[in-house]
Amino acid sequence: MSRIVYLNGDYLPEEEAKVSIFDRGFLMADAVYEVTAVLDRKLTDFEGHVARLDRSLNELGMAMPLTRDELLEVHRELVKRNDVVDGGVYLQITRGAPSDRDFVFPDPETTPQTVVLFTQSKPGIANSPAAKTGIKVISIEDLRWHRRDIKTVQLLYPSMGKMMAKAAGCDDAWMVEDGKVTEGTSNNAYIVNGNKIITRELSHDILHGITRAAVLRYAREAQMEVEERAFSIAEAQAADEAFITSASTFVMPVVEIDGAKIGTGTPGPVAARLREIYLDESMKAAI
Ligand code: PMP
Repeated sequence: MSRIVYLNGDYLPEEEAKVSIFDRGFLMADAVYEVTAVLDRKLTDFEGHVARLDRSLNELGMAMPLTRDELLEVHRELVKRNDVVDGGVYLQITRGAPSDRDFVFPDPETTPQTVVLFTQSKPGIANSPAAKTGIKVISIEDLRWHRRDIKTVQLLYPSMGKMMAKAAGCDDAWMVEDGKVTEGTSNNAYIVNGNKIITRELSHDILHGITRAAVLRYAREAQMEVEERAFSIAEAQAADEAFITSASTFVMPVVEIDGAKIGTGTPGPVAARLREIYLDESMKAAI
């Protein structure tokens, strides 16, 4: 069955939603995006995603085309119209479609932004089998640009990273710069030693994960120790546990890095506990 999607103020069947070939999202990756998880028909961490969207747009000199309330209404309407129980809402805002290709930004007065939202249905994501077995990652060099804190649609290198992982029989790749892990292709990276959770500090080097912020808050509330600093692949391979976080995977254990088993090679107790707390609290706070 075809989805109903949102394009510039209209709700349309996906086949009828068309964007210009001159759209700067298409020609220049001049666009930002967000993905908000849907659990039991409700939106998780909505405020965090809107705040980050606002920041990404600001960093690129783009305006926020809809208010927070309007965005919430579109998210909710799409979840309802597409009968999404579990999954996510994808949102993308581009600098619009000028009349020709040009490196210079178009005048926002004459070139309105393109706003697209669509849903992705993933029944039962909270009970994903991968969370019970854990995932395997490889390490690759981080070849992305240096403003990874802006959530742009320049996803070619992360996409190549996933393909490299797949070719190596693994699930994902952790990117490494100057000997230290930055993050996963579409998630933040963590290691655990005893009761201590270690993850890279916020900077332009990584995306400021909305799930990361929530998980670190819950970890501190649960009396776990949190250390925000960079770590190497060797340190990760020697850690008790490793895991990733993102809006679509929540907390996902990592059981192997570059062929080396982490701890016992099975999901550890800290990652499992954080996943449970995160899912419980997110469901409670979902709107
Ligand atoms: N890092 C990168 C590079 C990502 O693409 C994502 C997910 N979009 C994340 C981290 C996790 O962010 P969030 O928890 O907000 O989904």
